[in-house]
Amino acid sequence: MDIMFKSTRGDKNYVTASQAIVKGIADDGGLFVPDNIPSIDFDLGEITHYSYRELAYRVLRLILTDYTEEELKYCINSAYDEKFDTPLIAPLAKAGSANFLELFHGKTIAFKDMALSILPYLLKTAAKKNGVKEEIVILTATSGDTGKAALEGFADVEGTRIIVFYPEDGVSDVQKAQMVTQKGANTCVAAIKGNFDDAQTAVKKIFTDNELKAELKQNGFVFSSANSINIGRLAPQIVYYFYAYAQMVNNGSINMGDKINFTVPTGNFGNILAGYYAKQMGLPVNKLICASNDNKVLYDFLTTGDYDINRDFIVTVSPSMDILISSNLERLLYHVSGSAEKTKELMSSLSENGKYTFKASPDFVGEYATIAETFDSISSLYKETGYVMDTHTAVAYSAYKKYIAASKDDTPNVIVSTASPYKFAKDVLRAIDSKFDGIDPFKALDTLSEESKTAIPAPIKDIDKREVIHKTVIDRTEIKDFVKSRLN
Ligand SMILES: *Cc1c(COP(=O)(O)O)cnc(C)c1O
Repeated sequence: MDIMFKSTRGDKNYVTASQAIVKGIADDGGLFVPDNIPSIDFDLGEITHYSYRELAYRVLRLILTDYTEEELKYCINSAYDEKFDTPLIAPLAKAGSANFLELFHGKTIAFKDMALSILPYLLKTAAKKNGVKEEIVILTATSGDTGKAALEGFADVEGTRIIVFYPEDGVSDVQKAQMVTQKGANTCVAAIKGNFDDAQTAVKKIFTDNELKAELKQNGFVFSSANSINIGRLAPQIVYYFYAYAQMVNNGSINMGDKINFTVPTGNFGNILAGYYAKQMGLPVNKLICASNDNKVLYDFLTTGDYDINRDFIVTVSPSMDILISSNLERLLYHVSGSAEKTKELMSSLSENGKYTFKASPDFVGEYATIAETFDSISSLYKETGYVMDTHTAVAYSAYKKYIAASKDDTPNVIVSTASPYKFAKDVLRAIDSKFDGIDPFKALDTLSEESKTAIPAPIKDIDKREVIHKTVIDRTEIKDFVKSRLN
């Protein structure tokens, strides 16, 4: 059966998966959602035999139904190859009693690679299928990891350009170095004076600016998005929830059919929403534990029903989760309420009053961890097992510990590990021992390598010695003009 996509805010146009991927966001500013979430059409028992690529094909064909088998396999095989430093692509690691699904073995050593390695292929294929003649301009706001992963994915991809905005003081030194040294004639990176929410809001506005879109179309450009508002980002993330489950069965942690929990370090709610889709498709999931840092809007929402961004934005040691407006929550509101009208009303309330009230789904539990708790977790797990978590994964680990202490839920759990500790080496070291306080962020890479007895991942080796190519800094009010100037 063909799955069609429609807007969460009621726009009457249905589009195919490939059209939704090209458009990125619906014309009325809503997000594309599948008109029904398909169930798996294979026996769950089979997944323990599948390679990552085979599993990706079995899952994605159910959602991206207008792609042919050949097209989909081309996209999957081009994405999940030697770019990853392990043939498993997303290995499950055990440390003490915890299971970590490591999603950081791609080119930019963060989980964004899981989706952004395949998105350029899905998009190029979609443009061809739909007769799009214009050059596709990827506009991206990043809290640090999406930007680099999108740059790597789209650099020198024919028929595309990519413009990335990151908050000047809101990303780690390594994240920044990764972005400003990006090569590729079609790439453009600018720092903005503002936080991630400012950048994301400005970029979303451009997507619905019909005047600007018409003007640029004249010049031969169309916009698309590499943020997790694009369904082409979300769909590939469903795959690794099945893959984690298969590995839990294969290593004897669970029996086929048992339910498991996932704890997910959450910002924009994209990763965890993919887990929700996996559950809806038939994966035996009990709870999805949504872990926040000090910007705990989601924790408050899941525990009280009140979503309220009228609060201070806190810069933490897990910058990719420093978000108050979690875009993908809109999709959950839509699925749970079953009503575009209701979703639109909640989103209007959010943009007008900065808040709304809604009873979320019992599939989710909220937890959070402070910076001190995050540091404690990194250091205690390291001392117990030698395993080093990054700061985001450590938020999830801490949140999970708090969750089991409070709930006594003994369902087997997988912690979704979203970044390599090397990406946040300075803070990870500071957590391990106060003697590393104030260490130079690049010297920290060598030190972490010595401490953890692991090799510095190739993508960031000598990153501080590469040429800085992108030096622009602009005010958040200048984003639109900047985009225009780049496309004229
Ligand atoms: C993006 C990111 C997150 C948050 O993921 P969402 O899908 O936005 O919820 C968590 N950790 C890291 C390292 C990230 O890059």
